[in-house]
Amino acid sequence: MSQIGHFIDGKHTAGTSGRSADIFNPATGEVQASVTLATKAEVDDAVARAAEAQKEWGATNPQRRARVMMAFGALINTHMDELAELVAREHGKTIPDAKGDVQRGLEFVEVCMGAPHMLKGEYTNDGGPGIDLYSMRQPLGVVAGITPFNFPAMIPLWKMAGALACGNAMILKPSERVPSTAMRLAELLQEAGLPDGVLQVVNGDKEAVDALLDNETIQAVAFVGSTPIAQYIYARATATGKRAQCFGGAKNHMIVMPDADMDKAADALVGAAYGAAGERCMAISVAVPVGEKTADTLIEKLVPRIEALKVGPYTSENDVDYGPVITAAAKQRILGLVESGVKQGAELVVDGRDFSLQGYENGFFVGPHLFDRVTPDMDIYKEEIFGPVLTQVRTASYEEALKLTMDNPYGNGTAIYTADGDTARDFAHRVNVGMVGINFPIPVPLSYHTFGGWKKSGFGDLNQYGPDAFRFYTRTKTVTARWFSGIKDGGEFAFKQMD
Ligand code: NAD
Repeated sequence: MSQIGHFIDGKHTAGTSGRSADIFNPATGEVQASVTLATKAEVDDAVARAAEAQKEWGATNPQRRARVMMAFGALINTHMDELAELVAREHGKTIPDAKGDVQRGLEFVEVCMGAPHMLKGEYTNDGGPGIDLYSMRQPLGVVAGITPFNFPAMIPLWKMAGALACGNAMILKPSERVPSTAMRLAELLQEAGLPDGVLQVVNGDKEAVDALLDNETIQAVAFVGSTPIAQYIYARATATGKRAQCFGGAKNHMIVMPDADMDKAADALVGAAYGAAGERCMAISVAVPVGEKTADTLIEKLVPRIEALKVGPYTSENDVDYGPVITAAAKQRILGLVESGVKQGAELVVDGRDFSLQGYENGFFVGPHLFDRVTPDMDIYKEEIFGPVLTQVRTASYEEALKLTMDNPYGNGTAIYTADGDTARDFAHRVNVGMVGINFPIPVPLSYHTFGGWKKSGFGDLNQYGPDAFRFYTRTKTVTARWFSGIKDGGEFAFKQMD
């Protein structure tokens, strides 16, 4: 069984802590590898080495840094199949979905190829008599990226590409459930020309994270994960004066208006709710039809689509729609919430509780579930289920559907399905959610825009990727300059003699 260590100063290194975590094959339930968990001393050592390496990297001109991104992007493309396999092997998602995971991260690497343009700064000529002002963006130094299990490629790429293109060094602490993709990306970055030590991958759990939060050399923390941990990390990082962007969980609502194309809405809901077994922060977990007739039609159209879903391992020769969830504990938690939904009076229209896959009985597969007549006081509405469970909350009017979405404590993504531009526009303007889809179920913006949720889905004031990433990973310095009369007003042009 392989033992995964750390990637420090361009080399794979074994950890010294003696502590490690199991990495499961979610399809079989077997342990397939073990990952070393770093101690505080190991984290501090990696940070100190990164600080040394950052000096030269930060002084390297942005165009040369961008060339590393270009070579890295090319290598990601060449290794697409291998990376997707690594993602699928530890996470369990299907290969097409795993390729999407890599691709959506690669897209931000492509944006970072334009770092010289993004870092250009500002200039005011003659802000006063003979006075010029200019602003420059300077790297922060050493920053930390702490990432979740559900996008083993995309989120580490969002973190590392921006940080490195801006001239920082980064300590990446990937999820201990899926560390291999990040380790491989670090190797590819080295092959692309990144100097050793500029990206250190330190594997670990809370001990490593706390060491990063308390380390005084670390200037910024970029986190993605669940809301309680996001809130904790934001508080502890900012307490020591670091800048922090911490993205949390979600409960994404999709409003379906009576005038919507119901087949398209049902197709969108099935993909957005059950894709990746519902383990996406932008998954739609709450369908909100407006009017009883819309709700009945939606259920009618959803049920056959859900019953036709194929669940299986990524290695299956048949096309599979989604794979297992990440751990046995995640499976138990999801099934526990399903039980609570039944007990609290929701109508379980599609019941996946008895789902079992021949040959994979110990895998972490969860069958698809659909609940109707869910109310906001139920646990299946209040909790982020993070599994293949779609809930439907019936509403009587557009205003009620909008209010439901706005009253929810999370604000990551939302969508509306309608044929009416005025309703769609009103929704996009008024809703207090960070990313909005109009006839678009998972509105993850393209990489040259930015990604970020509101309310309990995001803490900190700059989004990830896009122009905000260049702001987050740099400090602005502004110079106000005046030159008193110089050589042009009376300098001596004769060769000066020393007195
Ligand atoms: P998680 O919060 O359990 O873990 C995220 C990271 O935090 C991991 O690297 C983990 O090692 C670390 N961590 C966990 N517990 C910690 C603790 N007590 N102290 C310090 N560090 C700790 O999240 P997860 O289960 O890996 O990911 C799923 C969650 O991430 C979901 O809630 C999902 O909605 C969210 N998510 C959000 C976004 C977004 O952009 N908003 C994107 C993807 C995932």
